[in-house]
Amino acid sequence: MEKTVNIIGAGLAGCEAAYQLSKRNIKVNLYEKKTIKRNEVQSLNTFAELVCSNTLRSTDLRNAVGCLKEEMRMFDSLIIKAAEYAQIPAGGSLAVDREKFSHYITDLIKNDKNITVIEKDVDFINPDSPTIIASGPLTSENLQKQIISLIGQEYFYFYDAVAPIVTKSSIDTTKTFRKNRYEKGDTEDYINCPMNKEQYSLFYNELINAKTAEAHLDKEKELKVFEGCMPVEIMAKRGFDTLTYGPLKPAGLRNLDGTNNFAVVQLRQDNASDELYNMVGFQTNLTWSEQKRVFRLIPGMEQADFVRYGVMHLNKFINSPSLLNSYNQVKLQPNIFFAGQITGVEGYVESTSSGIISAINMARYLSNEPMLKFPTNTVMGGLQNYIISTSSKNFQPMKANWSIVDNIELNKKVKKDEKKFLYSQAALKSMENFIKLL
Ligand SMILES: Cc1cc2nc3c(=O)[nH]c(=O)nc-3n(C[C@H](O)[C@H](O)[C@H](O)COP(=O)(O)OP(=O)(O)OC[C@H]3O[C@@H](n4cnc5c(N)ncnc54)[C@H](O)[C@@H]3O)c2cc1C
Repeated sequence: MEKTVNIIGAGLAGCEAAYQLSKRNIKVNLYEKKTIKRNEVQSLNTFAELVCSNTLRSTDLRNAVGCLKEEMRMFDSLIIKAAEYAQIPAGGSLAVDREKFSHYITDLIKNDKNITVIEKDVDFINPDSPTIIASGPLTSENLQKQIISLIGQEYFYFYDAVAPIVTKSSIDTTKTFRKNRYEKGDTEDYINCPMNKEQYSLFYNELINAKTAEAHLDKEKELKVFEGCMPVEIMAKRGFDTLTYGPLKPAGLRNLDGTNNFAVVQLRQDNASDELYNMVGFQTNLTWSEQKRVFRLIPGMEQADFVRYGVMHLNKFINSPSLLNSYNQVKLQPNIFFAGQITGVEGYVESTSSGIISAINMARYLSNEPMLKFPTNTVMGGLQNYIISTSSKNFQPMKANWSIVDNIELNKKVKKDEKKFLYSQAALKSMENFIKLL
Protein backbone atom coordinates (compact mmCIF):
# COMPACT_ATOMS: atom_id res chain seq x y z
CA MET A 1 0.00 0.00 0.00
CA GLU A 2 1.33 3.42 -0.93
CA LYS A 3 1.76 5.65 2.10
CA THR A 4 1.70 9.44 2.18
CA VAL A 5 3.66 11.30 4.82
CA ASN A 6 2.16 14.41 6.41
CA ILE A 7 4.72 17.08 7.18
CA ILE A 8 3.59 19.94 9.37
CA GLY A 9 5.52 23.14 8.64
CA ALA A 10 7.21 24.25 5.42
CA GLY A 11 10.13 25.79 7.26
CA LEU A 12 13.75 24.72 6.89
CA ALA A 13 13.34 21.24 8.39
CA GLY A 14 9.93 20.59 6.81
CA CYS A 15 11.00 21.55 3.27
CA GLU A 16 14.20 19.55 3.57
CA ALA A 17 12.29 16.51 4.85
CA ALA A 18 9.71 16.80 2.05
CA TYR A 19 12.45 16.99 -0.57
CA GLN A 20 14.34 14.00 0.89
CA LEU A 21 11.16 11.89 0.99
CA SER A 22 10.23 12.84 -2.55
CA LYS A 23 13.71 11.83 -3.75
CA ARG A 24 12.92 8.42 -2.27
CA ASN A 25 9.64 8.34 -4.19
CA ILE A 26 7.41 8.87 -1.19
CA LYS A 27 4.37 11.10 -1.48
CA VAL A 28 4.13 14.04 0.91
CA ASN A 29 1.35 16.34 2.08
CA LEU A 30 3.18 19.44 3.25
CA TYR A 31 1.08 21.65 5.53
CA GLU A 32 1.91 25.32 6.05
CA LYS A 33 -0.10 28.00 7.78
CA LYS A 34 1.80 31.21 7.00
CA THR A 35 -0.37 32.26 4.06
CA ILE A 36 -3.37 32.06 6.40
CA LYS A 37 -1.71 33.48 9.49
CA ARG A 38 1.88 34.61 9.82
CA ASN A 39 3.66 34.63 13.16
CA GLU A 40 5.27 37.79 14.56
CA VAL A 41 8.59 37.38 12.79
CA GLN A 42 7.47 36.12 9.37
CA SER A 43 7.29 38.61 6.53
CA LEU A 44 7.26 36.41 3.39
CA ASN A 45 4.56 34.14 2.01
CA THR A 46 7.16 31.72 0.69
CA PHE A 47 8.69 28.73 2.47
CA ALA A 48 11.85 28.23 4.52
CA GLU A 49 11.98 31.81 5.68
CA LEU A 50 15.11 32.94 7.50
CA VAL A 51 13.41 35.04 10.15
CA CYS A 52 16.41 36.83 11.59
CA SER A 53 19.99 36.78 10.36
CA ASN A 54 20.56 35.81 6.71
CA THR A 55 23.58 33.62 7.33
CA LEU A 56 24.01 29.88 7.56
CA ARG A 57 27.26 30.66 9.40
CA SER A 58 30.83 29.53 8.77
CA THR A 59 31.98 27.55 5.75
CA ASP A 60 35.30 26.72 7.44
CA LEU A 61 35.62 22.97 7.85
CA ARG A 62 37.40 23.48 11.15
CA ASN A 63 34.18 24.88 12.47
CA ALA A 64 31.61 22.18 13.33
CA VAL A 65 28.84 24.05 11.51
CA GLY A 66 31.05 24.26 8.41
CA CYS A 67 31.55 20.50 8.53
CA LEU A 68 27.84 19.99 9.16
CA LYS A 69 26.98 21.81 5.92
CA GLU A 70 29.48 19.65 4.04
CA GLU A 71 27.88 16.51 5.50
CA MET A 72 24.44 17.75 4.43
CA ARG A 73 25.71 18.43 0.93
CA MET A 74 26.49 14.71 0.74
CA PHE A 75 22.73 14.10 1.07
CA ASP A 76 22.02 16.58 -1.73
CA SER A 77 20.41 18.91 0.83
CA LEU A 78 17.82 21.20 -0.73
CA ILE A 79 18.52 23.97 1.77
CA ILE A 80 22.26 23.93 1.10
CA LYS A 81 21.62 23.94 -2.66
CA ALA A 82 19.29 26.92 -2.26
CA ALA A 83 21.82 28.75 -0.09
CA GLU A 84 24.52 28.30 -2.70
CA TYR A 85 22.13 29.54 -5.40
CA ALA A 86 21.19 32.64 -3.36
CA GLN A 87 24.65 33.23 -1.85
CA ILE A 88 25.89 36.78 -1.31
CA PRO A 89 29.46 37.74 -0.31
CA ALA A 90 30.11 37.43 3.45
CA GLY A 91 33.75 36.46 3.97
CA GLY A 92 33.94 32.98 5.46
CA SER A 93 30.19 32.66 5.99
CA LEU A 94 27.41 31.28 3.82
CA ALA A 95 25.11 34.31 3.71
CA VAL A 96 22.13 34.46 1.37
CA ASP A 97 19.62 36.81 -0.20
CA ARG A 98 16.71 35.57 1.92
CA GLU A 99 13.98 36.17 -0.68
CA LYS A 100 15.89 34.50 -3.50
CA PHE A 101 16.66 31.62 -1.13
CA SER A 102 13.05 31.18 -0.06
CA HIS A 103 11.67 31.50 -3.62
CA TYR A 104 14.06 28.87 -4.95
CA ILE A 105 12.88 26.40 -2.31
CA THR A 106 9.20 27.25 -2.72
CA ASP A 107 9.31 26.83 -6.52
CA LEU A 108 11.07 23.52 -6.27
CA ILE A 109 8.67 22.19 -3.62
CA LYS A 110 5.54 23.41 -5.42
CA ASN A 111 6.65 21.84 -8.70
CA ASP A 112 7.57 18.50 -7.16
CA LYS A 113 5.13 15.85 -8.38
CA ASN A 114 5.40 13.90 -5.12
CA ILE A 115 4.63 16.89 -2.88
CA THR A 116 1.19 18.42 -2.33
CA VAL A 117 1.19 21.71 -0.48
CA ILE A 118 -1.80 22.28 1.80
CA GLU A 119 -2.35 25.74 3.29
CA LYS A 120 -3.71 25.04 6.73
CA ASP A 121 -3.14 25.85 10.39
CA VAL A 122 -2.95 22.20 11.45
CA ASP A 123 -4.73 21.51 14.73
CA PHE A 124 -4.96 17.73 14.67
CA ILE A 125 -2.38 14.96 14.63
CA ASN A 126 -3.54 11.49 13.71
CA PRO A 127 -1.23 9.02 15.49
CA ASP A 128 -2.10 6.33 12.91
CA SER A 129 -0.91 8.41 9.99
CA PRO A 130 2.84 8.83 9.24
CA THR A 131 3.64 12.39 10.23
CA ILE A 132 6.70 14.57 10.68
CA ILE A 133 6.10 17.53 12.97
CA ALA A 134 8.43 20.34 11.86
CA SER A 135 6.45 23.33 13.10
CA GLY A 136 9.45 25.14 14.54
CA PRO A 137 10.16 27.33 17.56
CA LEU A 138 6.93 29.29 17.09
CA THR A 139 4.54 26.35 16.64
CA SER A 140 0.96 27.65 16.52
CA GLU A 141 -1.24 27.50 19.62
CA ASN A 142 -3.65 24.88 18.29
CA LEU A 143 -0.93 22.52 17.27
CA GLN A 144 0.82 23.05 20.58
CA LYS A 145 -2.27 21.68 22.35
CA GLN A 146 -2.25 18.61 20.10
CA ILE A 147 1.43 17.98 20.68
CA ILE A 148 0.92 18.33 24.42
CA SER A 149 -1.94 15.84 24.36
CA LEU A 150 0.28 13.46 22.40
CA ILE A 151 3.40 13.68 24.55
CA GLY A 152 2.28 15.22 27.87
CA GLN A 153 2.44 18.79 29.21
CA GLU A 154 5.59 18.13 31.21
CA TYR A 155 7.56 17.34 28.04
CA PHE A 156 6.74 20.55 26.17
CA TYR A 157 8.68 23.76 26.83
CA PHE A 158 7.88 27.31 25.87
CA TYR A 159 11.16 29.09 26.23
CA ASP A 160 14.88 28.71 26.29
CA ALA A 161 16.47 30.05 29.42
CA VAL A 162 19.91 28.83 28.65
CA ALA A 163 22.99 29.37 30.74
CA PRO A 164 26.29 29.46 28.82
CA ILE A 165 28.11 26.19 28.22
CA VAL A 166 31.92 26.00 28.19
CA THR A 167 34.41 23.27 27.42
CA LYS A 168 35.98 21.58 30.41
CA SER A 169 39.43 21.71 28.79
CA SER A 170 39.30 25.52 28.73
CA ILE A 171 38.89 25.81 32.53
CA ASP A 172 42.02 26.62 34.53
CA THR A 173 41.69 23.89 37.16
CA THR A 174 44.55 25.32 39.23
CA LYS A 175 42.07 28.03 40.31
CA THR A 176 39.01 25.79 40.82
CA PHE A 177 38.10 22.80 42.95
CA ARG A 178 35.73 19.85 42.58
CA LYS A 179 33.09 19.34 45.22
CA ASN A 180 29.34 18.99 45.62
CA ARG A 181 27.61 21.46 47.96
CA TYR A 182 27.85 20.08 51.54
CA GLU A 183 29.75 17.17 49.95
CA LYS A 184 26.50 15.39 49.14
CA GLY A 185 26.75 12.20 47.08
CA ASP A 186 29.70 9.88 46.45
CA THR A 187 31.17 11.72 43.50
CA GLU A 188 32.49 15.26 43.03
CA ASP A 189 30.29 16.46 40.22
CA TYR A 190 30.72 20.23 40.19
CA ILE A 191 33.67 22.38 39.21
CA ASN A 192 33.65 25.34 41.59
CA CYS A 193 35.17 28.72 40.78
CA PRO A 194 35.78 30.53 44.08
CA MET A 195 35.91 34.32 44.44
CA ASN A 196 37.16 36.59 47.18
CA LYS A 197 35.39 39.89 47.86
CA GLU A 198 37.64 41.90 45.57
CA GLN A 199 37.18 39.50 42.66
CA TYR A 200 33.43 39.40 43.22
CA SER A 201 33.17 43.22 43.35
CA LEU A 202 34.94 43.59 40.03
CA PHE A 203 32.75 40.90 38.44
CA TYR A 204 29.58 42.35 39.98
CA ASN A 205 30.19 45.87 38.71
CA GLU A 206 30.91 44.69 35.19
CA LEU A 207 27.85 42.40 35.24
CA ILE A 208 25.32 45.05 36.24
CA ASN A 209 26.67 47.51 33.68
CA ALA A 210 27.02 45.06 30.77
CA LYS A 211 25.07 45.46 27.52
CA THR A 212 21.98 43.29 27.03
CA ALA A 213 20.58 41.87 23.78
CA GLU A 214 17.30 43.17 22.40
CA ALA A 215 14.20 40.95 22.50
CA HIS A 216 12.96 39.68 19.11
CA LEU A 217 9.38 39.25 20.20
CA ASP A 218 7.03 41.08 22.53
CA LYS A 219 6.45 37.88 24.49
CA GLU A 220 10.19 37.61 25.16
CA LYS A 221 10.01 40.76 27.28
CA GLU A 222 7.65 38.89 29.62
CA LEU A 223 10.05 35.95 29.99
CA LYS A 224 12.44 37.98 32.01
CA VAL A 225 10.04 38.51 34.85
CA PHE A 226 9.66 34.83 35.73
CA GLU A 227 11.57 34.16 38.95
CA GLY A 228 12.49 30.67 37.78
CA CYS A 229 14.45 31.89 34.78
CA MET A 230 15.52 35.33 35.88
CA PRO A 231 18.63 36.50 34.06
CA VAL A 232 21.65 36.64 36.33
CA GLU A 233 22.25 40.34 35.52
CA ILE A 234 18.71 41.29 36.59
CA MET A 235 19.04 39.33 39.81
CA ALA A 236 22.38 41.09 40.44
CA LYS A 237 20.79 44.51 40.02
CA ARG A 238 18.64 43.83 43.09
CA GLY A 239 21.67 44.35 45.30
CA PHE A 240 25.35 43.57 45.84
CA ASP A 241 24.61 40.51 47.98
CA THR A 242 21.69 39.01 46.04
CA LEU A 243 23.81 36.61 43.99
CA THR A 244 25.78 35.47 47.04
CA TYR A 245 22.48 34.32 48.55
CA GLY A 246 21.41 32.87 45.19
CA PRO A 247 23.35 31.02 42.48
CA LEU A 248 26.76 32.20 43.75
CA LYS A 249 26.21 31.31 47.39
CA PRO A 250 29.38 30.00 49.02
CA ALA A 251 27.62 27.94 51.73
CA GLY A 252 28.74 24.31 51.75
CA LEU A 253 31.53 25.05 49.29
CA ARG A 254 34.66 25.66 51.37
CA ASN A 255 37.97 25.42 49.57
CA LEU A 256 39.84 22.11 49.86
CA ASP A 257 42.07 23.67 52.58
CA GLY A 258 38.94 24.50 54.63
CA THR A 259 38.96 28.28 54.04
CA ASN A 260 35.78 30.16 53.17
CA ASN A 261 34.88 31.97 49.96
CA PHE A 262 32.94 35.16 49.38
CA ALA A 263 31.15 33.73 46.34
CA VAL A 264 31.35 30.55 44.24
CA VAL A 265 30.31 29.98 40.62
CA GLN A 266 29.41 26.35 40.00
CA LEU A 267 29.88 24.55 36.69
CA ARG A 268 27.80 21.41 36.14
CA GLN A 269 28.58 18.56 33.74
CA ASP A 270 26.43 18.86 30.63
CA ASN A 271 27.16 15.87 28.41
CA ALA A 272 27.86 12.19 28.95
CA SER A 273 31.42 12.41 27.62
CA ASP A 274 32.19 14.99 30.33
CA GLU A 275 33.56 17.63 27.97
CA LEU A 276 30.95 20.33 28.44
CA TYR A 277 30.00 22.25 31.58
CA ASN A 278 27.17 24.71 32.07
CA MET A 279 27.26 27.71 34.36
CA VAL A 280 24.68 27.01 37.06
CA GLY A 281 22.08 29.79 37.42
CA PHE A 282 23.64 31.92 34.69
CA GLN A 283 20.71 32.20 32.30
CA THR A 284 21.32 35.60 30.80
CA ASN A 285 20.29 38.13 28.28
CA LEU A 286 23.67 39.83 27.88
CA THR A 287 25.02 40.17 24.34
CA TRP A 288 27.41 37.37 23.41
CA SER A 289 30.48 39.62 23.42
CA GLU A 290 29.56 40.88 26.89
CA GLN A 291 29.09 37.33 28.18
CA LYS A 292 32.57 36.48 26.99
CA ARG A 293 34.09 39.62 28.53
CA VAL A 294 32.29 39.54 31.89
CA PHE A 295 32.20 35.78 32.56
CA ARG A 296 35.89 35.51 31.79
CA LEU A 297 36.45 37.62 34.93
CA ILE A 298 35.46 34.55 36.97
CA PRO A 299 38.57 32.84 38.40
CA GLY A 300 39.38 29.74 36.34
CA MET A 301 37.34 30.97 33.38
CA GLU A 302 39.83 33.50 31.98
CA GLN A 303 40.24 31.43 28.79
CA ALA A 304 36.77 29.85 28.78
CA ASP A 305 35.74 28.51 25.41
CA PHE A 306 31.97 29.11 25.07
CA VAL A 307 30.32 26.41 22.92
CA ARG A 308 27.05 28.19 23.43
CA TYR A 309 26.15 31.48 25.00
CA GLY A 310 23.20 32.10 27.27
CA VAL A 311 19.93 33.19 25.67
CA MET A 312 16.42 34.04 26.77
CA HIS A 313 14.19 33.11 23.84
CA LEU A 314 10.61 32.21 23.23
CA ASN A 315 11.24 28.78 21.76
CA LYS A 316 8.83 25.88 21.82
CA PHE A 317 10.58 22.54 22.01
CA ILE A 318 10.05 19.04 23.34
CA ASN A 319 12.01 17.00 25.82
CA SER A 320 13.73 14.87 23.21
CA PRO A 321 15.86 12.82 25.65
CA SER A 322 12.65 11.41 27.13
CA LEU A 323 10.57 11.20 23.97
CA LEU A 324 12.62 10.46 20.87
CA ASN A 325 14.90 7.71 19.65
CA SER A 326 17.96 8.14 17.42
CA TYR A 327 15.73 8.41 14.35
CA ASN A 328 13.64 11.37 15.63
CA GLN A 329 10.73 8.98 16.04
CA VAL A 330 8.46 9.27 19.09
CA LYS A 331 9.25 6.14 21.12
CA LEU A 332 5.64 5.47 22.07
CA GLN A 333 4.03 6.67 18.80
CA PRO A 334 5.97 5.05 15.95
CA ASN A 335 4.12 6.87 13.16
CA ILE A 336 5.09 10.26 14.54
CA PHE A 337 8.50 11.83 13.97
CA PHE A 338 9.70 15.32 14.88
CA ALA A 339 12.21 17.45 12.97
CA GLY A 340 13.87 20.83 13.28
CA GLN A 341 14.19 23.27 16.10
CA ILE A 342 11.26 21.75 17.99
CA THR A 343 13.48 18.72 18.75
CA GLY A 344 15.96 20.91 20.64
CA VAL A 345 18.58 21.48 17.99
CA GLU A 346 19.20 25.15 17.44
CA GLY A 347 19.95 27.17 14.33
CA TYR A 348 19.04 27.16 10.67
CA VAL A 349 21.61 24.55 9.63
CA GLU A 350 21.08 22.29 12.62
CA SER A 351 17.29 22.34 12.13
CA THR A 352 17.67 21.41 8.47
CA SER A 353 20.03 18.54 9.26
CA SER A 354 17.45 17.16 11.66
CA GLY A 355 14.95 17.15 8.76
CA ILE A 356 17.31 14.90 6.79
CA ILE A 357 17.57 12.42 9.68
CA SER A 358 13.79 12.27 10.14
CA ALA A 359 13.05 11.88 6.41
CA ILE A 360 15.59 9.13 5.78
CA ASN A 361 14.35 7.17 8.75
CA MET A 362 10.67 7.78 7.98
CA ALA A 363 11.33 6.37 4.48
CA ARG A 364 12.99 3.30 5.96
CA TYR A 365 10.23 2.87 8.53
CA LEU A 366 7.58 2.91 5.81
CA SER A 367 9.41 0.35 3.72
CA ASN A 368 10.06 -1.90 6.74
CA GLU A 369 13.79 -1.45 6.51
CA PRO A 370 15.78 -1.06 9.74
CA MET A 371 16.11 2.58 10.68
CA LEU A 372 19.66 3.91 10.97
CA LYS A 373 21.46 5.81 13.68
CA PHE A 374 23.76 8.41 12.14
CA PRO A 375 27.41 7.90 13.16
CA THR A 376 28.23 9.88 16.29
CA ASN A 377 31.63 10.89 14.95
CA THR A 378 29.86 13.06 12.37
CA VAL A 379 28.38 16.44 13.32
CA MET A 380 24.89 15.36 12.23
CA GLY A 381 25.08 12.19 14.30
CA GLY A 382 26.77 13.90 17.26
CA LEU A 383 24.07 16.55 17.46
CA GLN A 384 21.30 13.98 17.14
CA ASN A 385 22.93 11.86 19.80
CA TYR A 386 23.18 14.88 22.11
CA ILE A 387 19.49 15.74 21.92
CA ILE A 388 18.36 12.23 22.72
CA SER A 389 21.01 11.15 25.22
CA THR A 390 21.73 14.23 27.30
CA SER A 391 20.08 14.68 30.71
CA SER A 392 16.32 15.03 30.32
CA LYS A 393 16.19 17.03 33.56
CA ASN A 394 17.94 20.17 32.40
CA PHE A 395 17.43 19.74 28.68
CA GLN A 396 18.06 22.89 26.64
CA PRO A 397 18.65 23.30 22.90
CA MET A 398 22.09 22.85 21.35
CA LYS A 399 24.00 24.13 18.33
CA ALA A 400 26.64 22.24 16.35
CA ASN A 401 30.04 22.13 18.05
CA TRP A 402 32.92 19.67 18.27
CA SER A 403 32.36 18.80 21.94
CA ILE A 404 29.22 16.80 21.15
CA VAL A 405 30.90 14.79 18.40
CA ASP A 406 32.73 11.54 19.19
CA ASN A 407 35.98 12.84 17.80
CA ILE A 408 38.81 10.56 16.74
CA GLU A 409 41.66 10.02 19.18
CA LEU A 410 44.76 11.80 17.96
CA ASN A 411 47.97 10.01 18.86
CA LYS A 412 50.18 13.05 18.36
CA LYS A 413 49.95 16.55 19.79
CA VAL A 414 48.59 18.98 17.23
CA LYS A 415 47.53 22.62 17.28
CA LYS A 416 43.86 23.38 18.02
CA ASP A 417 43.09 24.40 14.44
CA GLU A 418 44.69 21.34 12.92
CA LYS A 419 42.89 19.15 15.43
CA LYS A 420 39.52 20.52 14.31
CA PHE A 421 40.46 20.03 10.68
CA LEU A 422 41.32 16.37 11.42
CA TYR A 423 37.99 15.96 13.22
CA SER A 424 36.15 17.22 10.18
CA GLN A 425 38.08 14.97 7.80
CA ALA A 426 37.20 11.96 9.97
CA ALA A 427 33.56 13.06 10.15
CA LEU A 428 33.28 13.40 6.38
CA LYS A 429 34.94 10.02 5.80
CA SER A 430 32.59 8.41 8.28
CA MET A 431 29.55 10.01 6.60
CA GLU A 432 30.77 8.80 3.22
CA ASN A 433 30.88 5.23 4.54
CA PHE A 434 27.46 5.63 6.15
CA ILE A 435 25.96 6.82 2.88
CA LYS A 436 27.27 3.69 1.18
CA LEU A 437 25.19 1.72 3.69
CA LEU A 438 22.09 3.63 2.64
C1 LIG B 1 12.77 35.17 16.58
C2 LIG B 1 13.72 34.13 16.14
C3 LIG B 1 14.95 34.48 15.58
C4 LIG B 1 15.85 33.49 15.15
N1 LIG B 1 17.05 33.85 14.59
C5 LIG B 1 17.89 32.90 14.14
C6 LIG B 1 19.12 33.25 13.50
O1 LIG B 1 19.42 34.40 13.31
N2 LIG B 1 19.95 32.25 13.09
C7 LIG B 1 19.62 30.94 13.25
O2 LIG B 1 20.41 30.06 12.84
N3 LIG B 1 18.47 30.58 13.86
C8 LIG B 1 17.60 31.52 14.30
N4 LIG B 1 16.43 31.19 14.92
C9 LIG B 1 16.09 29.85 15.08
C10 LIG B 1 15.36 29.45 13.80
O3 LIG B 1 13.99 29.61 13.86
C11 LIG B 1 15.51 28.08 13.50
O4 LIG B 1 16.85 27.85 13.50
C12 LIG B 1 14.91 27.59 12.20
O5 LIG B 1 14.11 28.48 11.46
C13 LIG B 1 14.07 26.45 12.62
O6 LIG B 1 13.71 25.73 11.52
P1 LIG B 1 12.43 24.84 11.62
O7 LIG B 1 12.22 24.27 10.27
O8 LIG B 1 12.52 23.94 12.77
O9 LIG B 1 11.26 25.89 11.94
P2 LIG B 1 10.73 27.10 11.05
O10 LIG B 1 11.75 27.50 10.05
O11 LIG B 1 10.23 28.11 12.02
O12 LIG B 1 9.50 26.45 10.27
C14 LIG B 1 8.34 26.03 10.92
C15 LIG B 1 7.17 26.27 9.97
O13 LIG B 1 6.01 25.66 10.52
C16 LIG B 1 4.90 26.51 10.30
N5 LIG B 1 3.87 26.16 11.28
C17 LIG B 1 3.88 26.37 12.62
N6 LIG B 1 2.75 25.88 13.17
C18 LIG B 1 2.01 25.34 12.16
C19 LIG B 1 0.74 24.69 12.08
N7 LIG B 1 0.00 24.48 13.15
N8 LIG B 1 0.29 24.27 10.87
C20 LIG B 1 1.03 24.47 9.73
N9 LIG B 1 2.23 25.09 9.75
C21 LIG B 1 2.73 25.51 10.95
C22 LIG B 1 5.48 27.91 10.45
O14 LIG B 1 4.69 28.88 9.81
C23 LIG B 1 6.85 27.75 9.80
O15 LIG B 1 6.82 28.07 8.43
C24 LIG B 1 15.50 32.15 15.33
C25 LIG B 1 14.28 31.79 15.90
C26 LIG B 1 13.39 32.77 16.30
C27 LIG B 1 12.08 32.36 16.91
